[in-house]
Amino acid sequence: MPKIVVFSGAGLSAESGIPTFRGSGGLWEGHRIEDVATPVGWMRNQQLVLDFYAQRFVQMQQCQPNPAHLAIAQLAAKFDVVCITQNIDTLLEKAGVKNVWHLHGRIDCHKCEWHFGIPPMDAEWQCDYRGAMEKPVQFSDLCPKCGKQLRPDVVWFGEAVDMRVDDLYQMVSLVDVFIVIGTSATVYPAANLLKFFQNVPEKYFVDPNPNYQALNDFTVFQGSASEYMPSLVTSLTTKFC
Ligand code: NAD
Repeated sequence: MPKIVVFSGAGLSAESGIPTFRGSGGLWEGHRIEDVATPVGWMRNQQLVLDFYAQRFVQMQQCQPNPAHLAIAQLAAKFDVVCITQNIDTLLEKAGVKNVWHLHGRIDCHKCEWHFGIPPMDAEWQCDYRGAMEKPVQFSDLCPKCGKQLRPDVVWFGEAVDMRVDDLYQMVSLVDVFIVIGTSATVYPAANLLKFFQNVPEKYFVDPNPNYQALNDFTVFQGSASEYMPSLVTSLTTKFC
């Protein structure tokens, strides 16, 4: 059975109605990234950040998987597929994919504000509480473990990414197919995955505006995820079944 890694960015969910931020002049829903997606923004104005993520939470809960998410779910039902995503939405899970690795966290989870790297970096202040949430985090929702303010469990710019390098090294030589969908490949360290998987025998890139600088002998499908993913999945299924 082939082992397949699917690496996705915001473009995968664009046709479900969740905007990417490169497509909106570098703003995310009208906000500067540094105001709503950095530890400094959080320290400056927690209410603004919580309101921003509360809106994203509601928006993402209302969105439905598009044909690309559903095609990936079909692929995952037949083969050994690992989905690595930069997306904080849970549309892959909604489509039925079980094995999803969220490099940048999940909108439907929260963690203690002292979880990672928010100053002061005093280890005594760090708390490892994380949990799932049914409603957006409010100002004054406190950590049940240490009593500090809770925040969305998403990785902000300048914070550590859940790269699990050991798992990647164990996986890389076993991978037969690497599919990259809807990413500008400019957000690091996630974008390093394109280099990490460069020796995989079959590599595909699906994006209407591919970042050719990041591509090294990929087969490029220049177009939208829902336009190309269903046919790519059909051809891989025919090939490997
Ligand atoms: P990006 O905004 O930098 O790039 C988006 C890419 O998607 C571009 O290359 C664009 O050409 C492509 N694209 C646009 N429409 C597409 C479509 N219909 N089909 C396929 N591709 C399409 O996104 P990124 O590279 O993922 O990095 C941005 C960061 O923003 C991520 O780390 C993520 O955490 C965050 N983000 C997440 C979401 C989400 O969870 N859905 C949405 C916006 C931003």
